Amino acid sequence: RLHNTIQELKGNIRVFCRVRPLEDGGLSKHIQLAASDNKSILLAKTEESHTGKTAEMQKNYHFSFDRVFGPLASQQEIFDEISLLVQSALDGYNVCCFAYGQTGSGKTYTMEGEEVDDMRGVIPRAVQQIFRAGEKLSSQGWEFSFTVSVVEIYNETLRDLLYSGKASKRPDHEIRKTASNDVTVTNLTYQKVSTEDEVLGLIALAKQNRSTAQTALNDRSSRSHSVFQLQIEGVNAGRDIKCKSTLCLVDLAGSERMVKSQSQGERFKEMTFINSSLSNLGIVITSLANKESHIPYRNSKLTYLLQNCLGGNSKTLMFVNISPELNSFGETLNSLRFASKVN
Ligand code: ADP
Ligand code: MG
Repeated sequence: RLHNTIQELKGNIRVFCRVRPLEDGGLSKHIQLAASDNKSILLAKTEESHTGKTAEMQKNYHFSFDRVFGPLASQQEIFDEISLLVQSALDGYNVCCFAYGQTGSGKTYTMEGEEVDDMRGVIPRAVQQIFRAGEKLSSQGWEFSFTVSVVEIYNETLRDLLYSGKASKRPDHEIRKTASNDVTVTNLTYQKVSTEDEVLGLIALAKQNRSTAQTALNDRSSRSHSVFQLQIEGVNAGRDIKCKSTLCLVDLAGSERMVKSQSQGERFKEMTFINSSLSNLGIVITSLANKESHIPYRNSKLTYLLQNCLGGNSKTLMFVNISPELNSFGETLNSLRFASKVN
């Protein structure tokens, strides 16, 4: 229960930073991680001085998070740090885990990973853990039922990634609150599942559905949020207890700011929607941390959809993924600033 104690002291929001390796596997010179505590990161940039005779000056930017993972951290090491959080979804807590960062920084690698065993990401590992732990609990009289949904949010419009009907018959979706205060999406596929393999099959279907929506010119997946939700309901008849929770795992749209001149028409519209939904996510998380009375969940589809998994007795983890290349310096700084605001 050490984990719960830490959560109570710190509130329910944690931020982990992960630095992607360079193409050649190394770490860049301008990013330094403190070996002592695994919690701090330093960005250093040498800049031309405007005033003096000294031609250069060094600017340092320090950040600290709950954990910082360097380029050598394995998928297993990452998961080891969040498996207790995943486990708490079986204890009745809503759990939400996001990956935030610019395109190419490793969000999808962190959340989905690759199908090779060692490279599997958070989503398949979390699913495996939930099903294995659920099986163990069944010997103590627990019976669980699971429901999966996968939604893409693109330009503030929801798309069902588990839809398998005719493309021309794709329904529209609205987010609703039920009488019992659950969040539900109209016309969405809520697939009942009972094994890990079934979930992995649905994840593959979602991935396929996501890629058919994009063309070579439009890498839509980097401009949309992908939200995987596993609803868990547990009943222990012998002890007359029930629990209900949702595990949400979210691969966010790329956080990069586009150059204005390059963003016209469709691109400009996408950029505007992404900026506003990511900044609203930041606002929601900070208002929750500050225990404000009004939380603006309804200002974006993402926070409205995740309303019950953010705040209340839920636990939130955000990965801030960063790229090691020097030409990403500005975006990296933006991402770290965003993440330290919510931390
Ligand atoms: P994003 O989803 O943020 O756009 P990706 O997850 O697609 O970024 O990562 C970009 C590329 O870098 C991919 O080829 C991915 O396999 C690779 N990559 C990302 N993170 C790591 C990592 N920690 N170790 C090795 N390769 C990585
Ligand atoms: Mg991606």
